[in-house]
This record gives sequence, C-alpha cells and structure tokens, in this order.
Amino acid sequence: MTSRPAQTGALPTREKIDSKFKWTLENLYSSDREWEEDYNVVERMIGEIAGFRGTLGNSGEQMLRWLHFADDMNIITGRLGNYAFRRYDENTANTHYQGMMDRVMSQHARTSAATSWVVPEILSIPRDTVETFIRDTEGLEVYAHHLDEIIRMQEHTLTPSEEELLALSLEAMAGPSNVFSMFNDADIRFGTITGEDGGEIEVTKGRYIQLQESHDRRVREDAYRALYSQYGTWKNTLSAMLSGQVKKEMFFARARKYSDTRTMALYEDNIPEAVYDNVVRTVNENLAPLQRSVRLRKEILGLDAVRPWDLYVPLASEANIYFPWEEAVETVREAMQVLGPAYSRDLSIGLTEGWIDVYENQGKTSGAYSAWTYGAHPFVLMNYTNTLKDVFTLAHEMGHAMHSYYTWKNQPPVYGGYTIFCAEVASTCNEMLLVEHMLKTRKDRDLQLQLLFHFIDTIRGTVYNQALFAEFEQFMHRSAERGTPLTVDLLSEKMTELYARYLGSDFGMDPLYAMNWARIPHFYRSFYVFQYATGLSAAVAIARNILDGKEGALEQYLNFLKSGSSKYSIDLLGDAGVDMTSSDPIAATAALMDELLDRVEDLR
Ligand SMILES: [Zn+2]
Repeated sequence: MTSRPAQTGALPTREKIDSKFKWTLENLYSSDREWEEDYNVVERMIGEIAGFRGTLGNSGEQMLRWLHFADDMNIITGRLGNYAFRRYDENTANTHYQGMMDRVMSQHARTSAATSWVVPEILSIPRDTVETFIRDTEGLEVYAHHLDEIIRMQEHTLTPSEEELLALSLEAMAGPSNVFSMFNDADIRFGTITGEDGGEIEVTKGRYIQLQESHDRRVREDAYRALYSQYGTWKNTLSAMLSGQVKKEMFFARARKYSDTRTMALYEDNIPEAVYDNVVRTVNENLAPLQRSVRLRKEILGLDAVRPWDLYVPLASEANIYFPWEEAVETVREAMQVLGPAYSRDLSIGLTEGWIDVYENQGKTSGAYSAWTYGAHPFVLMNYTNTLKDVFTLAHEMGHAMHSYYTWKNQPPVYGGYTIFCAEVASTCNEMLLVEHMLKTRKDRDLQLQLLFHFIDTIRGTVYNQALFAEFEQFMHRSAERGTPLTVDLLSEKMTELYARYLGSDFGMDPLYAMNWARIPHFYRSFYVFQYATGLSAAVAIARNILDGKEGALEQYLNFLKSGSSKYSIDLLGDAGVDMTSSDPIAATAALMDELLDRVEDLR
C-alpha cells in the first residue's frame, strides 16, 4: 500500500508501453499473414459444409465426422475472431484491424447461414436412433450431452413449414428491443445540471453513476431528477415498448407449446423453475440485512430518510490508498493461495506471462474483460489505474480467465465454453477470497471500511437489486399472460411497492423512482437477471466452504473450473457442492451481509 497517485497527464501511445505490461497476441498468430492463411482455411471449409447436408442421420460415423469437422472449424473461427478483436481493442483507431474484425464477423455470418440446417436435421432424427448411434459409435459418446441439449428441444420444435414461418417473423419480432436500444442508447437526452464546481454539466448515462457518487446532495438530486424525469416524459412510449417485448415472448412461448414465458426462458439451459422461485422467496425472507444497510447509510449521511439519490454515495472516506501493479499482482496471488498449489502456479503464469494487457494507452478500448477461445490461453484486458477497485477487477477477471484456462485444458472443444449461469461464480469467488484475505492482512481502518462497503454494495447490487428486478419481471410477464395490460400505472405501482418492501422504512420513495422499469435494458432479455443473484450466492457458498476447510470443497470447486459446459449448469454447481434449488446459498449470502455490517459497526 502506498499513497502514490494514479498516473496522470496525457495517455502514452501503445509503443511507449513496456512489453511486460502487454498481452502476447503472438501466441495466437505470429503475424497477420498467418491469420490470413487461417482465414482462407475457413473459407474452404465453408464450401465443404453443404456436403454434409442430409447425411447426419445415415450413421453414427457420419454424425461423428460432422461433429469433428464442426469442432475444427469452430476452433479456427474462434481464434481468428479472438486475434482480430484483441488487436482492435489495443487501438480502436486502427482501421486495419477494424477491417479484419469486419471480415471475421461477415465470415461468421456466412458460416451460420451455411450451417443453419444442422440443428433442424438433428432434431428430425428420432431420439432412439441418436441414442443407438451414441452407443455403437466409438468417439460419439463424448457428444452425448451436446446431442441431448439439441434433442430435448424436439418437444418444442414445430413442423418445418411452421418453423419457417417463425423464422420469417424474427426480424420484425426484434422490433421492441431494437426500438428500446435506439431510444435508450442514441436518442434520449437528460439535459444539464449545475455541477459541484458551479459549472454546467450535461447528464449522460456514462456520467450518471459518477454524479450519484457526489458528496454534494444537491448535485445528486439534480442529476437524478434530470435522468428520471426524461424517462417519465416518455412513459407511455416506454411501456408500449416493454409490453411489445413481453408479447413477443408470449407469442413464441405459445407457438412452441411452453406453458409460459419463464418456462421457455429457463428450458434451454435446463434450469429448474424452483431455482428462480427460490431466489425471490429467499431474498424476501432475508430482507433485514438490506434494510439494516439502508439504516446505516441514513445514520452515516445524517439524513431523515435515504432517498433514491442517496443510494450510491460512498460511505467510506476515500483515503488515498493506491496499489501499484506489482503490489496488486502480489496481493491477488497471496489471496488465491487457499485454492492450492496447482491453482497458484497456473495463476502466477497467467499474471506474468503475456495474458494481461495492463495499462491504458491512446485508443485502447475502455473497461476490463477476460476473453478466450478454445486452444489458447485467455487474454485479460485491464485499464489499471492503481485503485482498490482495479485490484478487485484483476481478481475478478483472472477468475474468469482461470475458469477458461482449466476448461480448455480438460474439456473437448464441444464443451469449451460455459454458461452465464456458471460464469460469474469463478470471478466472484476470487473477489470474495480477496476481500477475506485483505481484511485479514490489511489493518488500516480506512481500507478496512472501504473493503467492507465494497462487499456490502456488491451484495446489495447483485443479489438484492437483481432479485427485485427478477420479482418485477415475473409480475410483469404473469400479468400480461393473464391478459392484464402493462400500463404505466401497473408497472409503476409495482416498482413502488417493491422498493418500499425491499428497502424498508428508512428509505423514502420518490414518485420518479417508480420509472425504473423503463430504463433496464435487461428486461429486453427475459428472465436473465436472476442469474446475477444465483451466481454471487453460489460463489459466496463455495468460498465459505473453502475458507472453512470443509472436506472436499476445494477439490469440488477445482473440478467445477475444469468442467466447462460438459453438463447442465445446475448439475455442475451441484457437483461443486452448491444446491441452487435450496435456500441455503442465498440465506448464507444475506447472513454474510449482516456479518459485514457488524464489522462496519465495530470499526465506526
Ligand atoms: Zn464477470
């Protein structure tokens, strides 16, 4: 820990940055020429796809030949995209790599079009024939789960001509979601407010969080009113968009013979509906820690009530605590030692041998991510500025990276990815281990408070807020399915009721805040947000078990990291020792929040 400030001044060009802080994309392709060669290989392969059409049901051998061919093509396609996108992200002003990226995307679109017959063809083969193929063909049993994922859609697949009609409707059906994103990303404007320094400042979505973190309450409220009143102005249009989206889902659910939209959304990854109900129920049974955090916020800020514009202002004093890169690496390394010697060794390789692009440079893409395709180590993009938040981002992204790395090392290509349901477990588990480690080893009071509030806010944002949205989504779809129109009043009244119930009596609701239903992009991706709550709770449960030295917990977790998508998500987590159909993981996360609040009270 040091009080050296983050770097300031003009950004360096990429050439000026020491190569030890840059990722090694040469591990994908040593030159653009090598990339071109692979690009042409895929071009040739696209031409060979048609030769498989109509043959997959002929024999197990033929099906296996196709699956191998598809694997090979996917690996090369993935690598081509990985290289072009990473090069582009190094400097988004580079038109050469922009061009390569466009070519990959267009090639990918052609591949998708050329393979669009595959799933329908497999679906047309009777299930017992596929099972016989798997039993009798050496090498095909590896694909049993993959084929099951396809075949189980048979129940909800219609006749070819009906399917054709559904496919024809897709572009028009994307209307509500396209309209919303045009409105929300391009057209809506929030006007200006007077900033902290008295100057005029335009409120944008990008600046909004920063303005909500201002210690000047007037600035926070002005920004809040600027943003929400605009959504309020368009409320009828916005409810029509959302209603259109829900009706689209209802159309597909009915056409494909699902009992309702939620069943359809959870069917694909085979997630039991009990998991969803359990998130909503268990969070509702455990609202006390959330309400306690609101009360504490009220006390620390010295308010009569916490209003919507008080929810994001930081509570810990922002003492200047900075972490140079080397110290961040060392801290993350130490925190993960509890995951055993093999993980530690592999993590060290990842941290130091060309996986990570550390610093910002002119033109580099913003944010942080871990990207990966089968057959090479992952790449982690950072824009490291020495803050505590950056150290957490590093732990988080390396969690994803290690999950990808172990999956690659242990799974065949067909299971080389992982679902959203599982993805955030590995990253959040690392964050959790980092908090625990730092709380144990760093006794500076300001830092301790920052750590505690960081984690409390994470649980509030990821478990409680998302459960609230999940409950709202459920209400919205159920209402529409019962024939109740999704009017502005219906949606706003529900939001108001939910915020009052979740945040408790120390929260002072504001009428504009009821408009929250109008601004959540995820509502255009139905029944998605509950997975944030399950992901974090699973990670908390796993990290707890490991830190408590529970027998078998570490081994189970390491196996989970090696499993990719070789089973359905719920089963993978079950193997990792977490039953997401039970209330335990979410209840334990609520209990942890309570414990963190105790620790804050002790330090105050
Ligand atoms: Zn993540």
